[in-house]
Amino acid sequence: MTHLRIIAIDGPAASGKSTLGFHLAEALGYLYFDTGLMYRAITWLALDHGLDLTNESTITRLAQDVPIEVTEPSFEDGRPCDVVVDGHDITWDIRQPEVDANVSIVSAYPGVREALTRQQRRIGLRGRVVMVGRDIGTVVLPDADVKIYLDASAEVRARRRCDEMLQRGETADFVQILAQVIERDRIDSTRAVAPLKPADDAILIDSDKLDADAVFQRALSLCKK
Ligand code: C5P
Repeated sequence: MTHLRIIAIDGPAASGKSTLGFHLAEALGYLYFDTGLMYRAITWLALDHGLDLTNESTITRLAQDVPIEVTEPSFEDGRPCDVVVDGHDITWDIRQPEVDANVSIVSAYPGVREALTRQQRRIGLRGRVVMVGRDIGTVVLPDADVKIYLDASAEVRARRRCDEMLQRGETADFVQILAQVIERDRIDSTRAVAPLKPADDAILIDSDKLDADAVFQRALSLCKK
């Protein structure tokens, strides 16, 4: 099992990639790296600074200039890591519905992707990493040893996202979340650069009828093969 250098997990919004990636990395003693949080951090910053999200060059400059620090969790509040920008802990801010609603606009900009992909590749190529995103197996780390594409129907994914929000004590409207999940999938899979799609050599896991543990066992057995 230890000969694996890179495990790539891709899939649409709320398909359970982060949960799978976190547990897989823990079981293997590897670094867990969720690339979605980088796109979320840039989106949150742009919203916080009141920037025009449709201004591609402004948003691209932000992605090029602002270092996003991802470190071991400093609190036991369910976070898998700390996300810090300009000295501010934005770990939970990047999960706000406003970020969900806008992140796909920001992540479609080629310059933003170039800046973040470079950082992700540098981290990934150090090895012993489970990297999670939309384009890890296709673009960021196409030589990954194991590529998993985790999918589920939009309804199941929206239900899971709703339950997560309710568990955190937030309000959640299923119909609105479902619409957002579908819209995010549409933008992510139709963008010109690095669209969401399974790599040709990815193994597809459909989690519609599998719980998180069954998905984990399936993925772990793939890594052991
Ligand atoms: O995985 P998560 O839902 O946190 O990702 C948020 C958004 O970031 C996605 O909807 C997508 O637009 C973008 N993303 C991406 N490429 C990645 C990871 C995330 O475009 N590798």
